[in-house]
Amino acid sequence: MPTYSYRCEACQHELEAKQKMSDAPLQTCPACGAAALKKQLNGANFHLKGSGWYKQSAKAPDAAPPPCASSGCCPAASGAGCATSE
Ligand SMILES: [Zn+2]
Repeated sequence: MPTYSYRCEACQHELEAKQKMSDAPLQTCPACGAAALKKQLNGANFHLKGSGWYKQSAKAPDAAPPPCASSGCCPAASGAGCATSE
């Protein structure tokens, strides 16, 4: 069950609450009683699990075409060597 951090905008009281994802966010501050609690998105237990996203971006350079000579000779693409003309 994730832990959410809240801060009261009325008295700056901070608290953490374990809630289900489907639970409604807390509103009433236990310290001053005002309905001024705001959920903090940078909670300590909030981690991005973006390993798949990272792999995708890391693979991008390999997809680049092989470099070709400015003369138009491209051995990697044709499978044949270049005939150098002097
Ligand atoms: Zn408060």
